[in-house]
Amino acid sequence: MTTDKKKGPARGRGTRGTKRPAKGAADTAKAERHATESPKEPETLSLAQAEAAASASDGGGFAELGLHPTVMRAIVDAGYTLPTPIQRQAIPLALKGRDLMGLAQTGTGKTASFSIPIIERLLDGPARTRALILTPTRELCQQVEEAFRKYGKHAGLGVVSVYGGVGYDTQVAALRGGVDVVVATPGRLIDHLERQNVSFDELEVLVLDEADRMLDMGFAPQISRIVATIPPYRQTLLFSATMPPEVEALARKYLRKPVVVQVGRRSQAATTVQHFVYPVPKQRKAELLAELLKKDSMDSVLVFTRTKHGADRVVRHLEHEGINADALHADKSQGQREAALQRFRDGKTRVLVATDIAQRGLDISGITHVINYDVPQQAEDYVHRIGRTGRAAQTGDAYTFMCADEIAMVKTIERTINQEIPRRSVPGYDFGT
Ligand code: AMP
Repeated sequence: MTTDKKKGPARGRGTRGTKRPAKGAADTAKAERHATESPKEPETLSLAQAEAAASASDGGGFAELGLHPTVMRAIVDAGYTLPTPIQRQAIPLALKGRDLMGLAQTGTGKTASFSIPIIERLLDGPARTRALILTPTRELCQQVEEAFRKYGKHAGLGVVSVYGGVGYDTQVAALRGGVDVVVATPGRLIDHLERQNVSFDELEVLVLDEADRMLDMGFAPQISRIVATIPPYRQTLLFSATMPPEVEALARKYLRKPVVVQVGRRSQAATTVQHFVYPVPKQRKAELLAELLKKDSMDSVLVFTRTKHGADRVVRHLEHEGINADALHADKSQGQREAALQRFRDGKTRVLVATDIAQRGLDISGITHVINYDVPQQAEDYVHRIGRTGRAAQTGDAYTFMCADEIAMVKTIERTINQEIPRRSVPGYDFGT
């Protein structure tokens, strides 16, 4: 554990200015709260069972990371048996208080690699806002908040996520009530800082998640304004799927002597995904998609289009063909996006058609196919897109529809992922047929 923690009197926040229970007592405290808050919470393993399971794991297991039983229990509840490579590398370093640059895409278990050490740190010490996670999108915000709830479920921590597109009231109430961890998109967080709904005077850990995407989305000025409100003696963890010079500059600006933790080669696509390119005339892409969806055993399909209108057009075409589909893009309200995601998760719609902005941070397990209906305009987006399938231990397929004017971009992608993507065709839909 780190020692750069700022000690000081509790701020006036009702009952929350008290010291958190000692680690050993955290389980009891949490159990008591849960007894009143959510009586239907599923049964979890006892502490003794969790400890036994942890120490029984072979070399390289979670037990070797030296985590507190309160956290171990949540990991066992989550059903994880072994840490992923990024977790094995990042957790011990983050626990020592080191600044970290994690080069890892979504799907590698990176969220746990920063949330677990943060939870360990928060088990001790005062209940104040001590950790901030900045993410590019509201979906990622919600996913990170869920991760904190999952891994911190026995730790009695307060977590809130704040993002745009929804009302302020609930967020203000949560922030003013006092929270340990804030997960936020930069724009909305600035609003809250300006209204003095939250203060980072005593923040200890800052995480910049999906830093490359935050910069792509133009959040650099907001990040700078937010960091200016945080004490300099914090721990800073930066995660990014890619490491272009802009991200390296960001890291130089905000991190102190960071250790670089890398999973796989730079820009390498997930190895659990099989890639195929389907050459197809532009005007026949919608037909090809419907054809594949009719024949192939594609259970849970995420389709990417370049534009919002393109996404809507594809959904209309699929529905015309009797295939259930939903669109997910920035013109949809937060409620519509959540409802679409829920229908997809529940298997009520097989196909979700999304734009790049909407795709980041989606954590939907069991996606069998990612389809690049339009070839992404940047090679790195290909890596992000296909990171939606083949997550954790699962495997998946990534199909890219390539029309004549997309051939050059596909070649660029192949160079970026250092892999030639095999061509496949459906008779009648190939070029020239
Ligand atoms: P992330 O890269 O953080 O988005 O995580 C990808 C997925 O892997 C999430 O659904 C996690 O719940 C899952 N996951 C994270 N760590 C592990 C682990 N050690 N074992 C199995 N699944 C994991």
